Amino acid sequence: LMQLFRPLDLLGMVYRTICQGLVDMDAMFKLIDTKQEVVDKPGAKPLQVSDGTVRFENVVFNYDDDRKILHGLDFEVPADGTLAIVGPSGAGKSTIARLLFRFYDPQDGRILIDGQDIAEVTQHSLRGAIGIVPQDSVLFNDSIGYNIGYGREGATQAEIEEAARGAALDGFIAKLPDGYDTQVGERGLKLSGGEKQRVAIARTLLKNPPILILDEATSALDSRTEDEIQATLAKISERRTTLIIAHRLSTITHADEIIVLNEGRIAERGSHRQLLVKRGLYADMWKRQAEDQREKA
Ligand code: ATP
Repeated sequence: LMQLFRPLDLLGMVYRTICQGLVDMDAMFKLIDTKQEVVDKPGAKPLQVSDGTVRFENVVFNYDDDRKILHGLDFEVPADGTLAIVGPSGAGKSTIARLLFRFYDPQDGRILIDGQDIAEVTQHSLRGAIGIVPQDSVLFNDSIGYNIGYGREGATQAEIEEAARGAALDGFIAKLPDGYDTQVGERGLKLSGGEKQRVAIARTLLKNPPILILDEATSALDSRTEDEIQATLAKISERRTTLIIAHRLSTITHADEIIVLNEGRIAERGSHRQLLVKRGLYADMWKRQAEDQREKA
């Protein structure tokens, strides 16, 4: 009997890991051939993105019956603008990103893109409009070229190479023994955290979505790699509506709005400057991170 359950258990684990890590769900569903929790409404129409405004209206969400995770959130990410979400571990930051990608539906309230409720449109069109650069990307046991090209079906070699340049991966690939044909993943070359993130950026460049979710890694990369990746991310988020889940405040000082989330509620909101003047939670976090930086230096 255990032999029967173990694979099921493993599937469950893979599923949960993916939900948590904001990996490309469509890919994983193809891999593990299982059902999605959220299904298209009958007659759902494709999402029509005009300028890419994202709105959360009184969004209430819980994973289980006994504990509310988000308690009625209201915010807007303006077209081509940037909204950053910060807050302590477990505050609900990644949950917001999972809801926007519609891994789950809220129990109350609505999430709108250009005025369309995302629960009413096809998932295919919704997920096609949103690019995610996750904390940790899954690499397939295949060539690095395949892993980048996965961002868009039918991408040509020239497009893959252009995306690699955009993600500043081209220099790294040029040094690999078989270039773009080098095998990566568990059974091939293992990439560092920074390199994997660049693969995710390259995939996103190929996908070219109007809306972007950046889920900043908690584990720090070395500071030079970090700076380089930040510069690349800043470039790809230009002219796209961007939601950043941030751990380092230094990366979001430019955001149009910063939301400080605490236990599923907005504790503070405003621009970096406005929040510093408030001398509240954000100002404390800023001070603490600055002190940590000084200690490391
Ligand atoms: P971190 O900064 O540590 O990534 P976060 O702010 O992104 O944290 P979330 O991942 O959104 O936090 O989680 C919010 C709360 O929801 C946590 O208390 C977490 O335990 C709970 N939670 C997350 N995923 C699930 C799940 N699949 N089932 C049940 N509870 C969950």
